[in-house]
Parts: sequence; C-alpha cells; structure tokens
Amino acid sequence: MKEDFYLGKINNKQKFYQEKFEYYRKMNFWAVIAISIPSIGYFFSDCYLIGEFSTKTLIPRAAILIPLIIFLLINSHTKDYHIIVPVSYLIGHSVMWCTIWSCMYLDDLSFACVGFFIILFIFLAIGIAAPLSYEIIGHGLLFVDIAIANTFLHYPDLTMMFLLGIPLYVGIVIFDVAIEKTYRDQLKMKNKLEDSLQHDMLTGAYNRNIFASLIDKDNRFKNSKSKRMAIAMYDLDKFKLVNDTYGHAAGDDTLIKVSEAVKSCLNNDECLIRWGGEEFIVILTGNDVDFREHAEEFRKAVENLILPIGKVTISIGVAEYHGEDYQKTIKCADKALYTAKNNGRNQVVIYSD
Ligand code: GH3
Ligand code: MG
Ligand code: MG
Repeated sequence: MKEDFYLGKINNKQKFYQEKFEYYRKMNFWAVIAISIPSIGYFFSDCYLIGEFSTKTLIPRAAILIPLIIFLLINSHTKDYHIIVPVSYLIGHSVMWCTIWSCMYLDDLSFACVGFFIILFIFLAIGIAAPLSYEIIGHGLLFVDIAIANTFLHYPDLTMMFLLGIPLYVGIVIFDVAIEKTYRDQLKMKNKLEDSLQHDMLTGAYNRNIFASLIDKDNRFKNSKSKRMAIAMYDLDKFKLVNDTYGHAAGDDTLIKVSEAVKSCLNNDECLIRWGGEEFIVILTGNDVDFREHAEEFRKAVENLILPIGKVTISIGVAEYHGEDYQKTIKCADKALYTAKNNGRNQVVIYSD
C-alpha cells in the first residue's frame, strides 16, 4: 500500500516547511511583535543623541505600526508560510527603514553600528519558523538596506558594520540550520510514533486506528466518490488447529506469511487491516476491477504458499461499498465470510441482499 496516501508523510519540501512553520507559528508571531513594538522605544535613544526631548523621530519610529497592522490582518487570514514568512521579514526590514528614516534627523551616527547588530540579531527569531532559503535571503537583505542607506547617511562605521555583521549573520544562519535539523528529527520521531499507533506489530498490517484517517465525520470513506470500493474480510481456515498442532509461534509466523502474500496482491491505494485475531479486512479500490477476481487472486496467493506447517487457506467475504456508513459494509462482508465458511471454506463469497 502506498503509505503516503493514508498517512500524509512528510515527503515533500513544501509540506515539511508548512508543518515547521505551523509548529513555530506562535514564535514567528511574537518575534514580529518583539521586533516592531520595542523599536518605537528607540525614540528615547534618539532624544538622548539629539541632546533634548524632541518629537522629530516620533513619526518615523511610530510608522512601524502601519506595516504591523497589515501583518496582523494577513496573519489572521492565512497560515500559509509562503505569505506569512516574507511578510514577517518585511516587518523586520520596515523596522530597519524606520530606523534609517530616524537617522536622517540625527547628527551623531556613531551608534548606528550597535543598532544594526541589534536588528541583525533580532532576525534570528524570524528565521526559526522560516525555510532556510527565506532566512538566507530575507536576513541577508539587511546588508543591502545598509548599503542603500549609506549612500545618503554616510555611516562613519560602515566597514565595521559589514566586518562584524557578516560573521554574526553567518552564525545566525548556522543556528537556524540547527533548528531546522532538530525539527526534522522531531518530526521523524512523531511520524514513527503515529505510524506505530496505526500498525499491528506482528503482521505489519494496519490496525483499526487507520479507519480514523480513512473516513469522514459521517463514517463514510473519504475517497469513495472518485472510485469504486469494496471491503473484503478474510479469516484463516482452521487456524486454531495450526496453533494446537505446531504451537503459537508457528501460528504467528503463519499470520505474517499470509499477510505478506495478501499484501503482494494489492495495488497502491488498497490497504490491509488486521481486524482482530486471525481476521483481516482489505479495502479494495479500482473502477475497472472485478472484486471477486481480485479477492480470488489473494485467496490463491495464500493457497499457493509453502509454509513450514504445510498449507493454509483463507475464506473471504466481499461487500461492495455504496457510500453508506462503512461499518454497514463491514457487517455485509462479515455475513458473506460466514457463508464462505459454511459453504466449505477456502472460497470467495460476494455479499448480496
Ligand atoms: P475457522 O475456519 O472456522 O475460522 O476456524 P478457526 O480455527 O480458524 O477459528 P477459531 O476462531 O476457533 O480460531 C481462531 C484462532 O486464532 C484462535 C486463536 O488462538 C488464534 N489466534 C488469534 N490471534 C492469534 C495470534 O496473533 N497468533 C496466533 N498464533 N494465533 C492467534
Ligand atoms: Mg479462522
Ligand atoms: Mg476467526
């Protein structure tokens, strides 16, 4: 069975980064707040540099509220990292440009270097929720901001801003790589745990928990509109005798081999579920499939197995799914299986009213 189809594994980059973003979404939100709101407080350091209380830089400093409000509006409407992450970087750059705007009213730019390091460092927080490529570009553009601003501000410490700033930027990118790696490991662990919750340890087939991801709130199969579906329920014939004659371990081994034989007959969209004991369910799909023939295929695959205990057979009941509560279909398949047992075992019976 195609595992991704049912379990939604992290198998593509976009999905991975969306999951990562959602995991760190709150961090991203508060990072944006923490970058923008306190930056208004630099008004007081402006006053200190001007040498008196002055409202000159009040508007440039408070101007950050406009992009911040836009961010809050966008953030309440979407969780898409393709949108929120660039907008978050935009807020960071807006803080930078509000600072540059304020600097235009200051004669003393000897502290611009320190301010630049503060902003560089603060960008680390946005990078935590962002894909690495966004971080490298979004963060690296701060040096472009500085280079542009220097054409009219003429920073006294421009060289030092770059010489000290670039290693800081590289260090922050390395830190964000480590965060991404840590998150990837954690996600792998989470997927493994979820996987083990949905699998039967002995046979590797799914257990009943898998139904939760296959059905909608009305207990109907999610994918049943696009293709025909049927439930095949099978049970090993005279299996108690296998246990009684060869022991429980041989019985376990038989269950594993039978499951493998059945799985080998299934296509990517079909799945094998251990329903309980030596009773299994197969979800069959396909528009051009004859479900009886398909069930016959895996009945024969089991019959042809050569096992240490000799031969083993299964009886199968099949019921086609017509959009009803899936448990009703299972009951019908169970009835057909009962008939197959009564008719002499090792056969397929299709349910009919
Ligand atoms: P029938 O053809 O009517 O199905 O006969 P049966 O002997 O298979 O039916 P019954 O329900 O009486 O026996 C099922 C047996 O399956 C009994 C139980 O011990 C065994 N069984 C259930 N789960 C496991 C398991 O995980 N491992 C082993 N070895 N045996 C199991
Ligand atoms: Mg049995
Ligand atoms: Mg049984």
